[in-house]
Amino acid sequence: MSKTATGTADVPSAPGLSGSTVADKTSAVPVKSCSLVLSAVLHRQLIAEARAALPRECCGLIEGMRDGDTIEVLALHPTRNLAETADAFEIDPAEHIRLLRELRRTGHEIVGCYHSHPNGSAVPSPRDRRGAAEAGFVWVICAEADLRAFVWDAADFVEIAVTESAAAPASRVRSAATGR
Ligand SMILES: [Zn+2]
Repeated sequence: MSKTATGTADVPSAPGLSGSTVADKTSAVPVKSCSLVLSAVLHRQLIAEARAALPRECCGLIEGMRDGDTIEVLALHPTRNLAETADAFEIDPAEHIRLLRELRRTGHEIVGCYHSHPNGSAVPSPRDRRGAAEAGFVWVICAEADLRAFVWDAADFVEIAVTESAAAPASRVRSAATGR
């Protein structure tokens, strides 16, 4: 606590800085009104991956598109789980970079990540909180048939709605990948 007070006193040259930073933070994208659109096919894929990874956690990256407050999931890219313990996940950074490069040509982005909680509920664990870094990044957590989505808002996870769509996004992925 005294450390924080000292730190504040050490930067008198920028009196308005901390105030404006706080304002920016609160006026950022209203994540609470976001919703994630996931097709039934991809929902089933995630549940199947979670089952196949038992007793460990499955993990992967979410390819999608943001359109206003709607984030549509276009594909789930399973990745290796580098975590040494069963109750954790760590996405292989090499696979993350490879997918980033791959998506550059498609106009899609990595909107978030997903993983499973084999023995828990579909809410972020303290470990997930420590691992979250990028504001606006979507975290989908699957615990058996329960699937929930959260967005990291730079301070905490905020749950967002998941809307299941009947139509598979595959045709859109294909046209975007091959179209110019
Ligand atoms: Zn977790």
